[in-house]
Amino acid sequence: MTNQTHRAYNFNAGPAGLPLAVLEKAQAEFTNFQNAGMSVMEMSHRSAIYEQVNNECEQLLMELLGVEKGYQALFVQGGASTQFAMVPMNFLRPGKVANYVMTGAWAEKAIQEARLFGDVALAADLVADNYMRMPKPTEFNISENAAYVHITSNETISGAQFKEFPDTGNVPLIADMSSDILSKPIDVSKFGLIYAGAQKNLGPSGVTVVIIRDDLLEDLPKNIPTMLRYGIHSKNKSLYNTPPSFSVYMVNLVLKWLKEQGGLAAVNQRNEQKAHLIYDVIDNSGGFYNGCAHVDSRSLMNITFRLQSEELEKAFAKASEQAGFVGLKGHRSVGGLRASTYNAVPLEACQALRDFMLDFQKQNG
Ligand SMILES: *Cc1c(COP(=O)(O)O)cnc(C)c1O
Repeated sequence: MTNQTHRAYNFNAGPAGLPLAVLEKAQAEFTNFQNAGMSVMEMSHRSAIYEQVNNECEQLLMELLGVEKGYQALFVQGGASTQFAMVPMNFLRPGKVANYVMTGAWAEKAIQEARLFGDVALAADLVADNYMRMPKPTEFNISENAAYVHITSNETISGAQFKEFPDTGNVPLIADMSSDILSKPIDVSKFGLIYAGAQKNLGPSGVTVVIIRDDLLEDLPKNIPTMLRYGIHSKNKSLYNTPPSFSVYMVNLVLKWLKEQGGLAAVNQRNEQKAHLIYDVIDNSGGFYNGCAHVDSRSLMNITFRLQSEELEKAFAKASEQAGFVGLKGHRSVGGLRASTYNAVPLEACQALRDFMLDFQKQNG
């Protein structure tokens, strides 16, 4: 690390890399934001300057997602993990059942929280497939009295990603998109609510983005803690209490960067290109590398793979670190290897990883 712009090949799963241009922009205005004589961190969240950051953030998010009306964005705290509880607290009423799709570690955490508040039924359970694929829309079993259907669009640990979302009719579809939000265009109109912790694809940790359909804000229960009520955050435009202002500011910069990249269609194209560089090495390795997720559920964000032995995987992890790669060890609960190729990971990092993988196979195959 000899100079400031030396950047590691960062394949961390979360918190994850941010675009260099965003970090440099933040650095340039770090001590004097918009000539206020102070950092955005040091100013009142009731100031006109911060209000503009907050409002612009919502506008950019909607613009990138192609949403014109009917939804609003909220910026809240507590991570996606707090959404696991807020969703059932706000939407699971007596006499109703919450439908969850059991697709892996993150879905399971969401389910555990929902069970604290009411009845839960699994609309699909992928345990028999070891969570290595996502269910097709036809595999969903929705209860007659379903309050909502909850999915995890991308299972960050197993590396399985939904390619097609179900049509749940009048039952609101709720998605945890923490690890693939804004990685590709989606049809927001299929969803009642989308949430995502920012630290994978949107910015730094500290802020959680919630996109909620207007009608879901009606008739929400009032006997739950103030900070856990969507209605409060909506009514106060995400400024009920002191927001994580620096994180929101960083998300704002990331959204501007995404727009400069050509928006979600262009970003998706690049994400496909990046992921395919690595999946191609896996598929052409003659079994030296083995992809974990089923081919038709393979994540473009978290590429999971194994080698023939744990010893070889350890050697791979070690050699990759020596070569300047960061974050390639799989999640501690599943082992193996994982390359997280979120929006901010540059193509060159994926090309370097491809070359490293080819070379490692040559040396060890
Ligand atoms: C990382 C992650 C979470 C947890 O997010 P926190 O913000 O740390 O609570 C939840 N769901 C998915 C899919 C994730 O990848």
